[in-house]
Amino acid sequence: MNNAQPASINDETARKVNLVGLSREELTQTLADIGEPAFRAKQLWHWIYHQGETDFDQMTTMAKDLRAKLAEQFVVERPGITREQTSSDNARKWLFNFPDGNEVETVFIPEDDRGAVCVSSQVGCSLTCTFCHTGTMKLVRNLTSAEIVGQFMAARDSYGEWPSPQGTRLLSNIVMMGMGEPLLNYDNVAKALRIIMDGEGIALSKRRITLSTSGVVPLMDRCGDDLGVNLAVSLHAVTDELRDVLVPINKKHPIKDLLAACRRYPSANNARRITFEYVMLKGINDSAADARELVRLVKGIPVKFNLIPFNPWPGVAYDCSEPHHMKRFAEILNDGGFSAPIRVPRGRDILAACGQLKSASERDVAKLRAARQSEKDEAEKADADNATITE
Ligand code: SAH
Ligand code: SF4
Repeated sequence: MNNAQPASINDETARKVNLVGLSREELTQTLADIGEPAFRAKQLWHWIYHQGETDFDQMTTMAKDLRAKLAEQFVVERPGITREQTSSDNARKWLFNFPDGNEVETVFIPEDDRGAVCVSSQVGCSLTCTFCHTGTMKLVRNLTSAEIVGQFMAARDSYGEWPSPQGTRLLSNIVMMGMGEPLLNYDNVAKALRIIMDGEGIALSKRRITLSTSGVVPLMDRCGDDLGVNLAVSLHAVTDELRDVLVPINKKHPIKDLLAACRRYPSANNARRITFEYVMLKGINDSAADARELVRLVKGIPVKFNLIPFNPWPGVAYDCSEPHHMKRFAEILNDGGFSAPIRVPRGRDILAACGQLKSASERDVAKLRAARQSEKDEAEKADADNATITE
């Protein structure tokens, strides 16, 4: 018996290797495997990451027959776009999909003539921070380097920002602050960031990339040594007792160890400070005493703060701090000599703000379920009606 299924277009594409996300060495090897010399990898790298070209036929520095040969075996692919939304304050959010049906969200937050793309590193998250909606989702899987680089490339497609500009760029920064804990998908995140930093491609400087961690202490050193990107640390509490509850990885790597890792983070200095993120939770971590303790704790570390108004999500028990409490908290940090802006939530109307990333898709799922249920009800009703007629 022949079980072979007819190949669909998707099957065809699925068989082809995506060149996005391969390291330079892997790209060189992939081309060597089809008998092409190393300089082709250099040419292709330039087309893929500098020009942003996805169609081999447009890669005109290569002979036509080579372009055809490449197109037969490879693709230069971005994640699929399930939905793209732009908020009233010009934040843009994409729901990207991958061939296995998983989806992640990516957000662009513009500020005048530049802006940061907030990139996801995992589908879901294995850590269970109690105020974070992604944390309720559990870890589905790590994203591949192709899927991480692909989010940024697709965001640039959306703004037509190719070839990679030499001077001012609109999509000027990357923050690894989307879904997931980037240090728990270290290898793929590191590979993706190396591709993004490569001087002959996208060429984004390590100074324009910030990786946010909830405190995976052993990998913070590696991140600093290998990548040298800016570090953001989700601190959120000044005692282990509270941080154990808010950020449960604290039980494994308590505040003392986390701060020690910050003290030795290689690229941190007064010009490149570590950002301490602190989510403002009403009556939980927002007292004046907490702020004073925070000033004491971080003494000697080159830090700046980012106070994040808590974004509520359905079913969560926390509330956002009162504005005057956030202001008082910020003033105490300022008096202690630290910059401590209260983050202005952006893209609220499209749920693009921190901790809201999963809500949208979950709401859509709920809507979808409701729609499906009413379809089912109608179908059952029609069946019942038909049955009555036949009887
Ligand atoms: N896993 C990494 C990066 C992704 S979370 C980390 O935890 O650092 C990005 C930031 O959003 C973190 O500082 C996180 O604590 C914060 N955050 C998560 N849920 C939030 C919410 N509901 N309101 C405000 N900030 C939230
Ligand atoms: Fe994961 Fe970060 Fe959310 Fe914690 S705050 S659950 S580490 S995504």
